[in-house]
Amino acid sequence: MTKNKITIAIDGYSSTGKSSFSKAIAKRLGYIYVDTGAMYRAVTLYCIDNGLIGEGGFPDTPEIIRRLSEIKISFAYNNETGKSDTMLNGVNVETDIRGIEVSQYVSSISAIPEVRGQMVELQREMGKHGGLVMDGRDIGTVVFPNADLKIFMTADPRVRAIRRFKELEAKGKNVSLKEIEKNISHRDYEDSHRTTSPLRRAEDAVVLDNSNMTLEEQLQWFDLLFSKVVGATKQ
Ligand code: C5P
Repeated sequence: MTKNKITIAIDGYSSTGKSSFSKAIAKRLGYIYVDTGAMYRAVTLYCIDNGLIGEGGFPDTPEIIRRLSEIKISFAYNNETGKSDTMLNGVNVETDIRGIEVSQYVSSISAIPEVRGQMVELQREMGKHGGLVMDGRDIGTVVFPNADLKIFMTADPRVRAIRRFKELEAKGKNVSLKEIEKNISHRDYEDSHRTTSPLRRAEDAVVLDNSNMTLEEQLQWFDLLFSKVVGATKQ
């Protein structure tokens, strides 16, 4: 049977350029792109705004779990940018979720199993028809373990920090390179060491180390891989 629209799972470390890469391949293929990091970021913003992160940065886990049914995450297409914006309870939070405060707390919020359960359910619903590129930390291992194509992205931590620094600088955000390096290594550690769905490479994922690659080079690499996979699924 010929399978036209496949499911592509992209996982990897923080700031490896997963979303730029995923967005670009989704556009090329005419697939839907889902940024699952944005979903965890939106839950974190809700927790910050509602005083659910206490002194010392510890989340009020029981209260967060109680309020989960009040947290509605969705995506809305933005005609001006041609991209999807993240919505939290009907409010566009696309800009607010990208700040350093959300980045600081997101790993502890996303470690809560009940939060993950709710997000994974939503992610599976979004991807049930295929024709999808989804990026995150557990897409190939937990959300879509049977995805047709899995890619695990990594890059040198220093290269990642510099890329992120330039990105934030371009957006006029005043954050030091040191602070970014600290945040990246903190998130890598927390995401890889949590009990529920830790970040790890699925055994059948293909590794993409883009430390020395431009986006264009990564897309060329992808085209080759994609034609092999699609060729294989057609048999
Ligand atoms: O992808 P991004 O860096 O925006 O993700 C923010 C955070 O959300 C990650 O550091 C991780 O803690 C969490 N996350 C996750 N599982 C996913 C996607 C993101 O735990 N599938």
